[in-house]
Amino acid sequence: MTAPLVDVDALVKSDQSRLIHPHLAGADTERIVMVEGSGCQLRDAHGREYLDATGGLMLGHVGHGRRELVDVAAGQMSKLEYFSSFHEFTNEPSIKLASRLIDIAPSPMERVYFTSGGAEAVDAALRMARLYHHRRGEPERTWVLARNFGYHGVTYGGGAATGMPMFHNGFGPMLPHVRHLTPPMPFHPELYGGEDPTEFCLRELRQTIEEIGADQIAVMIGEPILGAGGVVIPPHDYWPRVRELLAAHGILLILDEVITGLGRIGHWFAAEPMGITPDFIVTAKGLTSGYFPMGALLVAGHVADVVTRDEGFIGGYTYSGHATGCAVALENLDIIERENLLAAAVEIGDHLGDQLRRLEELPIVGQVRQIGLMIGIELAQDPATGEPLSAGWVAPLVRERHGIIIRNNPNTILLSPPLVLSRSEADQVAAAVTDVLTEYATTAKRRVSAPTRDLSVL
Ligand code: PLP
Repeated sequence: MTAPLVDVDALVKSDQSRLIHPHLAGADTERIVMVEGSGCQLRDAHGREYLDATGGLMLGHVGHGRRELVDVAAGQMSKLEYFSSFHEFTNEPSIKLASRLIDIAPSPMERVYFTSGGAEAVDAALRMARLYHHRRGEPERTWVLARNFGYHGVTYGGGAATGMPMFHNGFGPMLPHVRHLTPPMPFHPELYGGEDPTEFCLRELRQTIEEIGADQIAVMIGEPILGAGGVVIPPHDYWPRVRELLAAHGILLILDEVITGLGRIGHWFAAEPMGITPDFIVTAKGLTSGYFPMGALLVAGHVADVVTRDEGFIGGYTYSGHATGCAVALENLDIIERENLLAAAVEIGDHLGDQLRRLEELPIVGQVRQIGLMIGIELAQDPATGEPLSAGWVAPLVRERHGIIIRNNPNTILLSPPLVLSRSEADQVAAAVTDVLTEYATTAKRRVSAPTRDLSVL
């Protein structure tokens, strides 16, 4: 351990009294002041080193400390840092980035709308979906179908679509005309009363369309793979069948690929291997690997034609099409391509997944789910019943003992390292998680149930 780089105590005190952190209660709780990073390695202000197995918040595809991105940002800033993209104004990096995203889109997409992050792009998609129907003479199509355990950010639009009660409690009323449906979670047959999960979900969707009225529903939104909800991979026929049913009723589909997009599962978009042809694709995170706050909404031609006609799409974000952000995104996509990071996500992901799947032998591990470098380890009081076991204790122990940063939702450990994770780093992650879970499973000191399966709440 090296000497502190700055007066850490003073920084922490100032943080404790001045900042509001998402998901942190109390003023005198621990703070970790991160100061530098390289690849998957991080260092805090005390000189402690960590391995980043979360990619910050499921992004960081190209890893920390990439000089190429710094140079591109500096180059663009020294030419033109930013100018508005409202009305007729535009800039070269945003034009090139839009074309690039359209080129790599899994199904025909014609236009791109830039934002500062994921939730803003979700909101833009919801607004465009309603506007599309409005302009086509069906203004009563206002309902949004979303899913329990789905996460779409915390703006009032994205937050309303999010299907986790903690993001609604105390913040209501949320956006009206949002209905949450059950996603398929094959590890939890108890949610489907003995029915096949996909059949249950399709029946529920059909019934909901009938109940609300197809002519009242604008759009459905969902993540191809539930991310914050626990890395839940649906049965292969779920999305294509949902898509077909929606299309038959004139209901649009927003695929939220904020996590899955741009390489995390080994494809540019999850829609491609999953055979989904949405009307909108929402992306963010991996777009710039976190080097610039940015999101992008890809819009299919038939929708783009409608929202760009008449007076156009009213409403934009100040930083839409930010020249520096777009230049960084272009270089970031180049790095992903140049370094074959899509293939790396699969290879290293499978290598890590193979080791972690052995944890299913432990009596506290319900299921290990891995696709590319997106991994969820669901804990259970009893794997046979799937009764949840809180995962909140795992991340602090893994960090304290092994210097590895992981995350969790109430009952699932979430791993989403940068796509540049090496094999030996993957081995370290697997060994650390295995150590902590094995010790707990063999000593079973604490059993804390996690009230996460309550589907009655939304
Ligand atoms: N959609 C999904 C699937 C996400 O995982 C997230 C963030 O984690 C968002 C939307 C919101 O993105 P942001 O936090 O950039 O607004």
